[in-house]
Amino acid sequence: MKQVNNIYFDNAATTQIDQSVIDLMNSIMSNHYGNPNSTHSFGRSSRTLIEKARKSIAKEFNVLPAEIFFTSCGTESDNLILISAVRDLGVKRILTSKIEHKAVLNVVKFLESTESVNVEYVKVKSNGLIDYDDLDQVLKSNNQKTLVSLMHVNNEIGSVLDLSIVGDICKKYDAFFHSDTVQSIGKYRFDLSKINIDFIVGSAHKFHGPKGIGFVYINKKLKLNPLLIGGNQERGLRAGTESVHNICGMELAFIDSYNSFEKNKNYILDLKTYFIKKITNSIPDLKFNGSCVNNHDSTYSILNICLPVSKDKSILLEFNLDLKGIACSRGSACQSGSSVGSHVLNSILKDSDLQKPSLRFSFSKYNNKTEIDKVVEVLSDFVNSN
Ligand code: PLP
Repeated sequence: MKQVNNIYFDNAATTQIDQSVIDLMNSIMSNHYGNPNSTHSFGRSSRTLIEKARKSIAKEFNVLPAEIFFTSCGTESDNLILISAVRDLGVKRILTSKIEHKAVLNVVKFLESTESVNVEYVKVKSNGLIDYDDLDQVLKSNNQKTLVSLMHVNNEIGSVLDLSIVGDICKKYDAFFHSDTVQSIGKYRFDLSKINIDFIVGSAHKFHGPKGIGFVYINKKLKLNPLLIGGNQERGLRAGTESVHNICGMELAFIDSYNSFEKNKNYILDLKTYFIKKITNSIPDLKFNGSCVNNHDSTYSILNICLPVSKDKSILLEFNLDLKGIACSRGSACQSGSSVGSHVLNSILKDSDLQKPSLRFSFSKYNNKTEIDKVVEVLSDFVNSN
């Protein structure tokens, strides 16, 4: 059932799938049901579609199609890289940060306990940016084979990592570099031939594609073994019959996002700027978490705000927004007693701000300024109510 009149500002969680993508996937499911691993014509037509999708993605990143592998999601992609890098590339130490997604943080903890990998956390500044000097120092301190895993765009506060700077530091110390780029695929252009980076990952549902499909880029110099054992699909890196309709849906969403890249970027940035202006006028005591208002350090699609309301009052906030049909994400520390809150905000905010409610608004091409007016009105009424 379509959700009418509701306002969706939770695009970092997932995005609305494009109708053209749904139509294509329906047609693929009806017309191309052959197993891509079969050698007959049905299989061959599915295989052709998959390889075309691989080429489209590789072309955008300026890499070889053989460096792109399909997976089921961003989480699987991160797992594959981190676990296989330890098992197959002799990685003894992982350098990451406390503000990574759980798809990285929990895998790293798993590797620490099961494979005796040394895990170290690079300093994060109070604006949510990685301290590059600290990264350099920590890498210099030890010559164990190291994998650096730092996300490109933070999914909660939108802070942006400079991939080129980090890639150069990694190269200096001969460390592998993995970046969780789940939030930035479709929103940033990457020429991977110009960056010292070994692994990036993508997930289609973050760029108006289907859920349950993702990919990894693995530098051709590196050979990893699969986590899923079975057939020889994905050139032996991931067993299991490929999801042809999902792969084609992801390809279309990917191509469309880059074909409309400038247009969407300008449109979404304009929405974010408008939101910042409006909400600052309506709630002057509000704070922005991370470096949300600085365009260079912050992505154009995510805004994380800390509202000047007491802990008691904040309990009603989510209920209030939901009642008005507004979907955003609660990115705040312990408000409900049982919740441990956001590990990202816990890493960067002062205790006094952690007591206040924080909200993440994440925008897409499907949002508009009327929706922002409505949200700001609801938030301002809430803050100013007794
Ligand atoms: N990494 C980041 C930065 C994310 O934002 C997400 C999803 O929220 C993931 C990884 C996991 O992706 P998926 O939902 O495709 O497993």
